[in-house]
Order: sequence, then C-alpha cells, then structure tokens
Amino acid sequence: MAGYDYDLFVIGGGSGGVRAARVAAALGKRVAIAEEYRYGGTCVIRGCVPKKLYVYASQFPEHFADAAGYGWTVPEASFDWPTLVANKDKEIARLEAIYKRNVEGAGGEAFHSRAMLVDPHSVYLVAEDRTVSADQILIATGGRPAPHPALSGHEYCIFSNEAFDLKQLPKAIMIEGGGYIAVEFANIFHGLGVDTTLVYRGQEILSRFDMDLRRSLHEMMEKKGIKILCHAVSEWVRKTPDGRLDVLLSGGRTLTVDQVMLAIGRIPNTENMGLEGVGVELSKTGAIVVDQYSRTNLDNIWAIGDVTHRVQLTPVAIHEAMCFIETAFKNNPTAPDHDTIPTAVFSQPEIGTVGLSEDDAIKRYSEVEVYRASFRPMRHTLSGRDEKMLMKLVVDGSTRKVLGAHILGPDAGEMAQLLGIPLKAGLTKDDFDRTMAVHPTAAEELVTMYKPTYRVKNGERV
Ligand code: NDP
Repeated sequence: MAGYDYDLFVIGGGSGGVRAARVAAALGKRVAIAEEYRYGGTCVIRGCVPKKLYVYASQFPEHFADAAGYGWTVPEASFDWPTLVANKDKEIARLEAIYKRNVEGAGGEAFHSRAMLVDPHSVYLVAEDRTVSADQILIATGGRPAPHPALSGHEYCIFSNEAFDLKQLPKAIMIEGGGYIAVEFANIFHGLGVDTTLVYRGQEILSRFDMDLRRSLHEMMEKKGIKILCHAVSEWVRKTPDGRLDVLLSGGRTLTVDQVMLAIGRIPNTENMGLEGVGVELSKTGAIVVDQYSRTNLDNIWAIGDVTHRVQLTPVAIHEAMCFIETAFKNNPTAPDHDTIPTAVFSQPEIGTVGLSEDDAIKRYSEVEVYRASFRPMRHTLSGRDEKMLMKLVVDGSTRKVLGAHILGPDAGEMAQLLGIPLKAGLTKDDFDRTMAVHPTAAEELVTMYKPTYRVKNGERV
C-alpha cells in the first residue's frame, strides 16, 4: 500500500462518498475525495434538503387558513420566491461547507475536480491536471434526472435540478411522471400558488406504494386543486410566441403552461470517467454492476449509491458506505441489507411506509390480515380542514408478523422511521397490541387497531 499516494480515493462528494471518505480517514487511512460540482451531492445541493425546505414553504397557506379555527386572524399573506431561493442557497452553502470540512477534519484531502480512472489504481484529476494513485477506489458519483430525448420539444423542459432555482415562479406548470419527485414537486408548486397539472402514464400515481395510499393521496391532491391526469403522456412541447409552452397530451388535450418539468426517473453518472477503459462492468442502463459487498468486477474498485442503481435513496448510500468500510478496511465483510427500507414521500399529506404493500403481501402469503383506520387528525377538528389520515398494517395471518405499515397524513415520514425498527426486527401484531398507546396522538392508532378490517385468503377478500 505504501507505494500508492492514498489508501482510498473516493470519486463523488455526495452523501455516500463523503461518509466513506470521512470514516476511512478517521480510521487513519490516507484518503482523498474528488467532487467536480459541489460537496453534498444531490441530496444536499438539489435533492432531499432543498426539497424539504420548499415543502415547508409551500405548507404555509394551509397553516394560515387552518389558524382561523383556532381563533387567529392572519392578515393577507404574500409570498416572495426569490427570498425562498436565496435562503435555501444560504442553507445549502452552509451544509456544503460542513460536508467538505468533515472529510478534511478527519484527515482526508478534498479536491474540487472531475476525476477519471486511468488504470485500476490511478485517477486523473482534471482540474489539477495530474494523476494520483490509490490502493482502493470507491465510485460514488450518483445519478441525474433521466432525459427524455423521444419527446419533441424536450429542450424546453426543466428537471428537478432547475426547478429549485427558477428565476421566476411560474403561473402554471405541468409535471410529467408519477414517482416521488413528480408528486412532491406537484404539491410544492401548488402550495406556492402555481396552477399545477401532473401527467402520469400509468393507472395511479406512485406505482411502488400501497394502492390505498395512492388512491387516497390522489383524491386529496385533487381536492386541494392539483390536476392529475393518469393514462397520459406528453406528445410534444412547443414554445408559443409569448414565451409560454403548449403541450399536446396523448388523447389530444393541449395544455398551455409556463414550465414543463420532467420527473421520469434518474440515471447513473458513469459517462466519461474512464470506466470502460479500465474494464469496470456496467449494466445495460449504464449503472455500475457490484456484488453484495459493493465491489465491482475489479478487485480494488468499489461503487455505492445511485451510481449502482440498487435503491436510489440517500440513507441507503450512507449504509452502503458504512458496509464498504467494514469490508474494505476492517476485515469484516458486510453486505448492505436492502430489505424492509422505510421511506417517505413528502407529498401533502405525507406518505410514510415500510414493508410490503397489501397487494405484494397477498402475492406472497396465503392469508393476510389488513388493519385499517381512516380518521380526521385532531388538528383538523378545529381547523375544519376536510382531510383524513390513513393508517394501515398488513399482517401475515399465520405468523402474525407485521409485513407492512403504511401511513398517509401529517408526520407520516417521522412515523415510518420508527415503524422501520419493529418491522426490521420482525415483530408481530401481538407485540404492537401489547404496546401502550401515547395519547393523544395520531400514531396511537398503530397500537389500537385490535380487529382486522378484513382478511385476504388465497387472494380472496373475506
Ligand atoms: P421514480 O422512479 O420514483 O418515478 C419515475 C416516474 O416516471 C414513474 O411514475 C414512471 O412511471 C414515470 N416514467 C418513467 N419513464 C417515463 C416515460 N418515458 N414517460 C413518462 N413517464 C415515465 O423516479 P423519480 O424521478 O420520481 O425519483 C428518482 C428516485 O429518487 C426515486 O426512485 C427515489 O428513490 C429517489 N427520491 C426519493 C425521495 C424521497 O425519499 N422522498 C424524493 C425524491 C426522489 P411508472 O410508474 O409507470 O414506471
């Protein structure tokens, strides 16, 4: 190892890469990391963090309206988009500095440069115009929004990256896609007062979630005034003489909007990095192929996070980083565990979910019990807001193991984090039943649904 400049070179300064670099450096390894854009990566710079800040911003109109029922008179409110963007910029600059400082503080070296593989132990730093060598190399370059070249006029469209920094808040927007990003941004823009239309090709938004939640969220979003068009795709986008955009949808309908945002998935960042040259195996989608320990087909080259196209979530990349450290530097081979990952969609209302949806459970288990509660959260009693909360537990009828927990409503993401623990531990419905409730909370429903709402035996609801 002494023959190399570094024990570990990390390419990509996002959540996964920074974690690996920081922890390896703290172990006393000689570590360097290169990031060509901004430390923090997608999550901090143009993903989870600014998204959540925008979610908060977009919720204020409802808070103002709800306040009346509690006796408050709120003067007419106005919103200033540039202030929000500027404050968001300040916060992500702060976090960006912390990310870089954390690596350096642990003794690592942080470069601002594109990095390309020259051979399995050499990395060319473009900004420095020099090549360094490393014993182990970790690729954590993440992903980016999937382009849509087949769409005529795609060059007029924006992606989530640009949505954060628009010069002006559009009056009307069309968002294409039905996944996390499309749904979250539809709610953000609507909350900020933008006339919002969501266009989704499938039968119901959020295809990977429990159908009950999908339908209920769809209804609630429509009730708020978001237009949702399912079974539709855009055929073309054209600029109008006054600078707006016409969109022709399948089915013949035309929309005129100020922005069209595409949120149709994300693709891995693996181009022009020298990967093919050194023989790192890529999948058909361009993702780096890794084994269960995040090792590529080359012994000393590893990859974690979105660039590997396993599960595209920040905490997953961080978990993979920690497992990589165990495997590569602590002589303790550890495979990341991708089973039962809790997750949230920061829609309005929010989704929090962990484990199997009802439909998936029915496919795998001969008898499934479904416990379901739909109720008005206490906060909305005085506010008068006509919005229900939905909670659902999916249980294996024979072992009583809780297979899935699904929540739609305020703080659902926070609850999903906590529910992740009993579901990961394989606890049963009886464990839930003997847990004392916390009163008055919405979450107490999770331990007070004593009787199944219905059972599904061999695919039949009984
Ligand atoms: P998703 O995979 O969640 O959704 C992509 C959506 O685009 C799906 O509805 C898909 O339809 C649709 N789609 C795909 N191709 C086309 C096409 N050619 N034309 C029309 N529609 C199409 O991706 P996102 O972009 O929303 O987000 C990327 C990833 O980032 C997510 O998977 C998630 O892991 C992560 N993320 C997580 C967040 C969180 O934790 N809260 C927030 C934001 C992102 P179909 O369903 O039919 O396949």
